[in-house]
Formats: sequence, structure tokens, C-alpha cells
Amino acid sequence: MIKSTYKKVFSAKSRLNFHFIYNKLRGPFYYGNNYHCNCCNHNFSTFIPKGRILRNNAECPNCGSLERTRLLMLYLQNNTDIFSKSLKVLHIAPEKCLNKVFKKLNIEYIDGDLDPLMATHIVDVTDIQYPTNYFDIIICSHVLGHVPDEPKAISELHRVLSSNGIALIMTLINPKNASTFEDKNIISVSDRATNYGEPDLCRLHGLDFKVRLANNGFKVEVIDYRNDIDTTLAQKLSVGDGDRELIFRCSK
Ligand SMILES: [Zn+2]
Repeated sequence: MIKSTYKKVFSAKSRLNFHFIYNKLRGPFYYGNNYHCNCCNHNFSTFIPKGRILRNNAECPNCGSLERTRLLMLYLQNNTDIFSKSLKVLHIAPEKCLNKVFKKLNIEYIDGDLDPLMATHIVDVTDIQYPTNYFDIIICSHVLGHVPDEPKAISELHRVLSSNGIALIMTLINPKNASTFEDKNIISVSDRATNYGEPDLCRLHGLDFKVRLANNGFKVEVIDYRNDIDTTLAQKLSVGDGDRELIFRCSK
């Protein structure tokens, strides 16, 4: 009740700003060295629990990064040229903690969202107003599950990706489901939360997510990067259980 009233009274942008300020204020209370956030480069005694079904050690008390954000940042640092070359980068629905880092890089950085309050550029992922083969790197994390016309969004991401580029796509996956679960009759916020795990999702992806990307043109490599890094580092960054952290590395 309190949460829904809060959402009605304040815009998503205001809520994000409140959360950002709240994070900054609470950060010092988590002083310690057990955990490290590689998005803001701070250490903490613990990360903060997060989610409808609480995940321990999920959210950075300072920058708000989540398990998947820290894993993606590490992957970008170790496996792409985003920090060393002047690339063209499209970041759909940008996470604030990554957005802040990428804006400082020597890249052509297009951070885009349908909501002009949430990013620098207005970008509709189903109708991307940029030329074919334009971007060297596309980051689209936890977006496609929210888009009604997912095939159109995937084909647009494919169209604007350069022939040598990579699109890093992530989503919430139920590993127990072989197929993505989607029912057009599930409309209300509470029903979506119950059936899809989050109130604003249009579907809950299953193990067929790779095929859904491939059906719209991509070559897809599924990377569980948690398994490619040192166990101690994985624990220090707290990189999740894999339901939200698989990286679908897509190319043409
Ligand atoms: Zn952080």
C-alpha cells in the first residue's frame, strides 16, 4: 500500500534520485572489506538484500549496482575494448552506476530510454533511430522481458549492430522452464509479479532465450562468467546465482 502510493506520487526519475541519495547516506554504515563493488570501487562489510524474494548481498550501498551489474562490468573490463578504444556504444535503459562510468570514457556513448527522464537520449528499442551497422557495442540488460514486441526489439538491436560488433544482452531467466512463459491475459501488476517474478515484466524467459535471439538474426554465445573468474573474486563481488547474470554475447 505504502509502496504503491509512493510510486503514484513520485516519478520513476524522482524515485531513482531519492534512492541514489539514500544510497550515498547509508554507504558509510556498511564500512568494511568483505565485499567490493567494481562499479564505484568501494569496499563494504556487506551488500544490501534486494528483490521480492530477498537475495542477500545484492545491492551496493553506494552506487546501487546489483550482482549482474558487477559481473557485466568485470566482463566489459576483461573482454571488450570499451575502456581503451573510441567505440560507438549503445546502452539501452542504462543502469545509473554504469552510466556514470561510461560517460567519462572516450567513446561515442548513446544512453537511451523511452522515458526522457531516465537517459540522455530517447530511444525506442523497437524503432532505433540510428543507421544500420552503426554500433560497436550494445548493452541491453534486463530490458527485453519488459518489451511487448520482443522480436521487433531483437531485430532492431541486430540491425544497428556493426558487422564486427557485439551486443551483450541479459535477462531474468527461470532455469526450470525450457520455454519462455508468456500469457497475454496476465495484465495486472500483481498477476505479473506472481507469474513473471517482477510487476512490470511481459514474460518470464526460459532456457529458450538463446533461440529467441537467434531466431531474429543473432549468433549467440551464452556465457556464465561467474564460472570464468576466481572463486574468491566471485564471492567478493557477489555475482549472484545465475538466474539474472547469464551474458548472451550476440554478433552478426
Ligand atoms: Zn558500487
